[in-house]
Amino acid sequence: MSFIKDSNNSWQSCMAKNITFIVTKDCQLACKYCYLVGKNVKERMPWEVAKTFIDYVLDHETDPDFAYESVVWDFIGGEPFLEIELINKICDYIKTELFCRNHHWFNSYRFSFSTNGINYHEKAVQDFIKKIKYRHNY
Ligand code: SF4
Repeated sequence: MSFIKDSNNSWQSCMAKNITFIVTKDCQLACKYCYLVGKNVKERMPWEVAKTFIDYVLDHETDPDFAYESVVWDFIGGEPFLEIELINKICDYIKTELFCRNHHWFNSYRFSFSTNGINYHEKAVQDFIKKIKYRHNY
């Protein structure tokens, strides 16, 4: 079972590393074209896995795999907003670690979410979006 994949994307014209967290294999829908094989409610990313991976990435800042000018932290599922508490914790940790390490990504990162929108109006999701927007509006 693979929880994390990565690839390059087009933001910053190939100067951004795209790092994707598959936070859950659960989803409320059953689209016929769904890319996810083996949807289920049990497989969700443990916090320890996310933290260990973030630490690894930030510990290897100069490795060719991570020596990009910018980064996109990408969250998918299943439906990622089913795991809004985990996502909130991951994003807080990333921001804190980037600041504490004086990492060059601190001023050059994005968060990206591939969502079906069903949970969009839930308070926890809205609170999270407001917090993220505030970060990018100053
Ligand atoms: S919303 Fe996305 S994850 Fe859910 S069933 Fe449809 S394609 Fe799959």
